Amino acid sequence: MTGRIRHCPADHIYTLSLTCPACGRPTSVAHPVRFSPMDKYGRYRRLAKHD
Ligand SMILES: [Zn+2]
Repeated sequence: MTGRIRHCPADHIYTLSLTCPACGRPTSVAHPVRFSPMDKYGRYRRLAKHD
């Protein structure tokens, strides 16, 4: 399935429809989840430093 998954920001529902099946709001294209370990570790490092 390489279709464009869409996402309702209000309900956090993923759908292929242009409108949310739950609330009827226009959905936006769901961006693929990006794993950014560097950012994650950077954050933790920052927290650790700050603490
Ligand atoms: Zn919705």
